Amino acid sequence: MSGPTSAVWSIGMRTRFRGITVREGMLLRGDAGWGEWSPFLEYDDTVAAPWLACAVEAADSGWPTPVRATVPVNVTVPAVDADVAHRIVADSGCLTAKVKVAEPGQQLGDDQARLEAVRDALGPSGRIRVDANGAWEVDAAMAALRVLDRAADGLEYAEQPCASVEELAALRRRIGVPIAADESIRRAEDPYRVRDLAAADIAVLKVQPLGGVRACLRIAEEIGMPVVVSSALESSVGIAAGVALAAALPELPYACGLATVRLLTDDLVTEPLVPVAGELPVRMPQVSGAALARLAAAPDRRAHWETRLARVRQDHPS
Ligand SMILES: [Mg+2]
Repeated sequence: MSGPTSAVWSIGMRTRFRGITVREGMLLRGDAGWGEWSPFLEYDDTVAAPWLACAVEAADSGWPTPVRATVPVNVTVPAVDADVAHRIVADSGCLTAKVKVAEPGQQLGDDQARLEAVRDALGPSGRIRVDANGAWEVDAAMAALRVLDRAADGLEYAEQPCASVEELAALRRRIGVPIAADESIRRAEDPYRVRDLAAADIAVLKVQPLGGVRACLRIAEEIGMPVVVSSALESSVGIAAGVALAAALPELPYACGLATVRLLTDDLVTEPLVPVAGELPVRMPQVSGAALARLAAAPDRRAHWETRLARVRQDHPS
């Protein structure tokens, strides 16, 4: 093995997302290839440790044998006007759309118009899910989802309609629209709580926060719920781990939320993992030396990440 065994990178975001305008992280190289370690900056070492386990798995072991060659993905529609939503979906080539709803400052009528436009763009066979990012109380979710289910001509599911697991469980007992848990699943123990409270029909899993592809396969098997694999705003190196999970799951009934590399202004690989006709190829992307040079973080940021890595490795050995 020649060349660098780690790199610290910094890539701009096309639009502010999660309140950030720059995504930073490390790549770690082992016998199996490159892994991405990109816990958000505010996360403490305990939270960042499973993210490291995911990167180490990619670098040292690689991933289980895939059972499919491509992974269907959704296009994500932000809380934009109906005509913009129509164009985003029509241009995407995806057969499934995830539509953001319940945006602060907007009305239910805005969501309704957006969903009608998305249905028009997708046609009758397309699938539409909404994501409220936990914005509604249970009663408000009931009322809104009834309206939005009609506007969409049938919702595939509602992602995190309410903030807490208890609220999701209460809502789920009262409504026919399937419920997916996203923000409720952040640490390895969370999916079991969602299952035990019968709070969701679908679990959204992200490989980095949950400790890697094999850890997620184990969780999926143990919770016995359908899984939607989603990204944590990674470069194509990190997205490849999510694709590896989606490719190895015995069943994959829903499109995944892995079409996110275009939220970043650049990428670390020669051929970024962008969808073609609504699907991502199952492959390990090639890290580009030119990109590593172009996107290298400033020396003070490099020092920050190397210190963080040393600390997590020492205090949280995997
Ligand atoms: Mg979500």
